[in-house]
Amino acid sequence: MEENKEKNIVNKTVIITGGSRGIGAEIVNLLAKEGYNIVLNYNKSEAKAKQIQEKLLQENIKIEIFKADVSKREEVKKLIKYTLEKFKTIDILINNAGISGQKLFTEITDEEWNTMLNTNLNSVFYCSQEALKEMINKKQGCIINISSIWGITGGSCEVAYSAAKAGINGLTKALAKEVGLSNIRVNAIAPGIIETEMNSQLTEQEKNEIKEEIPLNKIGKPSDIAKCVKWLIEDTYTTGQIISINGGWYI
Ligand code: NAP
Repeated sequence: MEENKEKNIVNKTVIITGGSRGIGAEIVNLLAKEGYNIVLNYNKSEAKAKQIQEKLLQENIKIEIFKADVSKREEVKKLIKYTLEKFKTIDILINNAGISGQKLFTEITDEEWNTMLNTNLNSVFYCSQEALKEMINKKQGCIINISSIWGITGGSCEVAYSAAKAGINGLTKALAKEVGLSNIRVNAIAPGIIETEMNSQLTEQEKNEIKEEIPLNKIGKPSDIAKCVKWLIEDTYTTGQIISINGGWYI
């Protein structure tokens, strides 16, 4: 079994989907430094995934990276198989991979709708179902889904995204009830606006206008979400919750 040498205080294996950039990359870095065995999943950003791996290696921390399009069941199966081959177990699954898209509802094509739902919601179904086979056997596990404020409030011109994220919230609550007796906790984090490439289309003026609507008057950082992920992993009594981290944007 491959384990981190630097700070081997935990012997737990984590899969982070969409770990190559943004929030996922921050979660990878934080948990790797805490000594978790990491499988960083990426799809298109191979160079970025390798960069994270190499940077951590310079600090004597070894992580695994694995390319898989998590919107496809067959690729998710390969991700799970790879993880079990490397680390023999899956303790924690972070369903973070996601895409966004702004469009008038009346103009969304079937293809765009399906891509959004497959990437943001079906991926959570596939990854959770495949990982749960191992977790239920072990009677231990933790699943954290990265949802969104729009899954709670709905976002204008983001109907498909909002529907997918609301789906994640329903899945989180229902699954938490179903697998609680197997000692598996399922929670979601619903970020407000976080400084990542997902918001790169926003102008400075648009960002300032959004900040004015936020009581804490700032845009969140990926580390704001990563810290909550770490807390949820370490916690033992929280399940079925959708935790809003949004600077007070929606209370
Ligand atoms: P980001 O910077 O655009 O990164 C998205 C990540 O998802 C990338 O690592 C990307 O990997 C991965 N991904 C996309 N499609 C994938 C697929 N089919 N298979 C595997 N990986 C895939 O976005 P982010 O802001 O970090 O977002 C992370 C999560 O937070 C998403 O679920 C997003 O909806 C949620 N969120 C973000 C915000 C925000 O304001 N940023 C707010 C609320 C919720 P590759 O590049 O390798 O393809």
